[in-house]
Parts: sequence; C-alpha cells; structure tokens
Amino acid sequence: MKLGLRGRIFLISVMLVLSTVGVGGIYFEQRVRGWTQARMEQELGAYAKLTCEMAQGVGVPALTGFTERVGHTLEARVTVIGSDGMVLGDSKRDPERMDNHSVRPEVVAAHESEGFGVALRHSDTLNVTMLYAAIPCQLDGGAGTIRVARPLRALQDAVRALRIVFVLAALSGLALAVFMSWITSSLLSRALRVVVGEAQRLANGTSEKGMLLASEEFGGLAGSFNKLAGDLERTMETLAQERSRFEAVLEGLADAVLSIDEDRRLTMVNRAARTLFRLPPATIGRELVDVIRIPSLHELVREGLKGESGSAEFEVIGPPRRVVVARVARLPENRGVVVAVQDVTDLRRLESVRRDFVANVSHELRTPVGIVRANAETLLDGALERPELARRFLDAQLRASERLSNLVNDLLEISRIESGRYELDPDYLRIEPLTSKVLQAVDELAVKKNITLSRDIESDLVVWGDTQALDHVLLNLVENAVKYTQVGGHVSLEAKFDEGEEGRPATVRIEIRDDGPGIEAVHRPRVFERFYRVDPGRSRSVGGTGLGLAIVKHLVDAMGGSVGVDPIIPRGSCFWVVLPVNPEGVGTPEAGEPAAG
Ligand code: ADP
Repeated sequence: MKLGLRGRIFLISVMLVLSTVGVGGIYFEQRVRGWTQARMEQELGAYAKLTCEMAQGVGVPALTGFTERVGHTLEARVTVIGSDGMVLGDSKRDPERMDNHSVRPEVVAAHESEGFGVALRHSDTLNVTMLYAAIPCQLDGGAGTIRVARPLRALQDAVRALRIVFVLAALSGLALAVFMSWITSSLLSRALRVVVGEAQRLANGTSEKGMLLASEEFGGLAGSFNKLAGDLERTMETLAQERSRFEAVLEGLADAVLSIDEDRRLTMVNRAARTLFRLPPATIGRELVDVIRIPSLHELVREGLKGESGSAEFEVIGPPRRVVVARVARLPENRGVVVAVQDVTDLRRLESVRRDFVANVSHELRTPVGIVRANAETLLDGALERPELARRFLDAQLRASERLSNLVNDLLEISRIESGRYELDPDYLRIEPLTSKVLQAVDELAVKKNITLSRDIESDLVVWGDTQALDHVLLNLVENAVKYTQVGGHVSLEAKFDEGEEGRPATVRIEIRDDGPGIEAVHRPRVFERFYRVDPGRSRSVGGTGLGLAIVKHLVDAMGGSVGVDPIIPRGSCFWVVLPVNPEGVGTPEAGEPAAG
C-alpha cells in the first residue's frame, strides 16, 4: 500500500511518540521499581532494627504475641528466628507449623554480609510476592534473627500508576501526532502545490519568469526552478530561431522538398513543392497518394522507406509540363523520408537544343563538303581534260566552299557571342552614316535584281550601341530583304525617334520593309531561332546559313535593344529594331511581334 504525504508524516510521528514513550516508560519503570524497592528495603531494615530493640527481654513464649503486635503496628509480617533457625514467633503463622528458616536467603545473608540480608520471593505461606529484610539480633535464648517482610503491592501499585501515566502520555502524544501531521502535511502540500502548479505551467509554456521567488519554504528549489525555466525558455527560443531559419531556407529553395513519414503522410512541403505539384492549401497530414498522383514518385518513396536512397526522373503534368529529377533520402531513426525534387526542364531543353544544333551543323556541312569532294573526284577522273566541263565543276566547288566559309563564319560568330567572348564597345552612334554604308553594300545585288532601295531617316538620329554590331545587324536585315524579295521589288530603311513616356525611355526605331513574300504567322515567332528557315531550299539557293537572324537577335539583345518582325499588308515583311538612345536600355519591348530566342 502506498502512503500519501500525510500518512507518511503521521506514521513517522506515531513511531516517534511510541518509541519515546516506550523507551521512557521502560526506563522510568526500572528506576521507580529500583528506587521503591531500595526505600522498602531501608524501611524494612529500620523496622527490623526497631523490632530487635523491642524484643530484648521478651521471653520465647511471649514472642508470638510480640510479633503479632509489632506486625500489626508496622503493617508488616514480623518473624523472630532462633539461632538454630527455628521460628520462635511470627505475626502471620503459628511458629510450630513453620519449617526451619536457617537456609532462607535473607537469613543466610543477614549473618554472612554486613548484618543485613534482603530477598524478594514468593511466599508460600501468604501466597504473595514479598520483600524480606533480616538482621541478626541478640535474643534471650542466644543469637537469633529478626525478619520483617512486606508484600510488594506498594511497589506494584506505583509501577501500575506510572504505566497509566505513560499510556495517557502516549495517547495524548498520538493525538498530537495526528494533529501535527495534518498541519504539517497541509502546509507542505500547499507549498508543493505551488511548485507542481508552476511546473505544469512551465510544461504548458504559460509560466512567468520568477513566479516561485515568493515561495520561502522552497527558497533553493525555487531558485533552481526559476533558473531551469529561464534555461528552458532560452533553449526554446534558440530552437524556434533555428527552426524559422531552417524554414526560411527551405521556403527559399528553388528545389521542391517534401518530407513524408513512415505512414506515407506528408509532414512538410516547401513553397517550390506547392507550386510544382499544385498542392491544395492543407496538405500536411494527408497521404501522399491522395495529394500527388505520380506513380514514379510513390515508387521512389516506397524504396526510400525501405532504406534505399535513389533518384527518378519523371514528368509533372502542367501546365507548364515540367521534367523533374527526384532524390530520396531516409530520415534518421526510421522517421520517414525526405524527397528533393529538382526541375530539370531547362537543362533537358538545352541538351536537346545542343543535340539539334550539332545535328543541324552536321547537316549543313554535309552538302557543301559533299559537293567539293564529288567535284574534285570528277575532275581527277578526267573532267580536267575537258575545259568547259572543268569550269562548271570548279564553279560549283567555289560556290560550295563560299557556303562553307559563310557557315563557318556564322558559326564562329554565334559561338563567340554565346560564349560571351564578343565584347561590345557601346557609344553614341549616328544612324545616318551607318545606313548609307549598309545600303551601299547591298547595292550591287539590288541592282542585279532590279530592286529599288529607299531610305527615310530623321536627321541627326543617335543611338547608344556598338558600331560593328549595329552594322552587322542592319546589313543582315537589309541583305535578307533584298535576297528574299522578288525581282523588281522594293526595300526601304526607315528610322524614327520615339521620345518614350513615363517609365519608358526614349528610343530609336529602325525598320527594314520589303514587299517580298512575307513570313507566315506560324513561322514569324521562330525565324530568330538558329537554323530555322521558312523555305530551306530557297534559303540555301540564296546562300543563306539559317543563322543570320539568330546572330541579329543576340547582338540586339546585347545592346539592350529589341528586335522583331511584323507582316505588311498586302505583302512583305517589316523587320524592326528598337535601340536605346541612352545607356539605360529600352525598357519594355514594343508591341508587335517580339523576337523568339
Ligand atoms: P538565312 O541565312 O536562311 O537567311 P536567317 O536567319 O537570316 O537565315 O533567316 C531565317 C529565315 O527567315 C530565312 O531562311 C527565311 O526563310 C526567312 N526570312 C528572313 N528574312 C526574310 C524576309 N525579308 N522576307 C521573307 N523571309 C525572310
């Protein structure tokens, strides 16, 4: 049985009272017993001496009467014993019927030790415990013994009275113990309740600093307790800070992160994960299968929970459709897994662009290289002997090598721009002289195709750009216009100042317009891609590489401008370039058909 605080205090008090009263009782009983017996012995000795004095001159026959009188007066049994041990007179019995008393211990002692013998013994004669005291006494008939005895009743009465006192003391001690234990336990439990209440508040996180300082009974405990509460609060604060830092990092991560417990329930998702998987707001605690329905991901999580870390690539149905790589890692102590999901859509697209580029380059190179080789073989096989044939083959070889050289130049140019090795040297450029140079460069071809070139440029137009790059851009666009426009067509170059408005800086818009075949709407967003051609046969026949507009777009972007193409009704195209007039750029691109990358 488990005792409560009150029960324990009571038990201890009872034990204390009982042991004190018990030990005290035994000790005092012994002392009282010893003391009373000694008094009685003294008393009996004195009575014996008195009796001896009085017995002088009393004859043996009168001794019985003498002992009766003296015994009556002293309220004691008085015995006179002769030198031979025979009882000569006794206050309680007839001496004739009494046996010889010479070997009675008190008689023996009276004659042996200093003339006084005592014995405590049960008297068969009176059937009661008696204290005997004997002294030698000179009687008429010779040396005899006077013995005085009293029952021990007085002693026993004194001891009994003492015992009653002790029992009463024990009972009042017990009552006091009950009362004291009740008081003590009440006081103690009240103080303890304060401590326990405060501990509970601490556990619930509602504790106030220094709450226990007032509690004097628990001064030391209160001090330690308050220190503990302070330490706990600081630890909690540190933990909370760590947690919010960790959450901020997780939330800011570009990769999606999911944490899943061993029951496959979501325990944490970051912002990237919510966006990627388009998760509903309350996902924590829900099962993964209910929230994300991607079998590859479930398989990965299953493996992860078995302790196998691995990765899987899969698609997340959009829009936009994303390609992702998910990696799984098991949490320590088998508390689930963490899945980190990286969006590799752009990476995969770049890989495919690179593959396409290599395939395109090989394809573009194959034809001219094939022509050079085949014609060289034909010439060596004998065509050299026939000059008119040889000339045709060499002409074809020359054209093929020109194409090869154009292609290689454009490839070098584009790789130089894309790798960042094309360094621009921007400055304020006057448009007019630049356009004159460009038109001059295409003049021969225009004349050949009977194409009219015209120019309409506002005077003193200045842009912020790189001379070489702008020259390249304009030449390419004007050359394209002349190349793709049919015989007898028109190509114009126009440039206007646009002062801009609030939030949009001033710009210059340059337009190259032709009345050629135009570009259909489906092709327009893609003509600025590498190797994109609207009509591949026609492009090759006019010596095109399919890289010109891609280079144009790169250069215009690098100068902080924008480029695009608009259709002209009823026929023709309008390629436009918008350039800044100051170093801060052109702001938001113009309306119309923006260039695709
Ligand atoms: P290419 O070397 O083939 O000319 P570009 O990158 O310069 O390559 O042009 C891409 C494609 O855009 C061309 O193949 C052509 O089909 C189309 N294109 C360019 N300029 C014009 C234009 N002024 N009129 C019609 N089509 C054009």
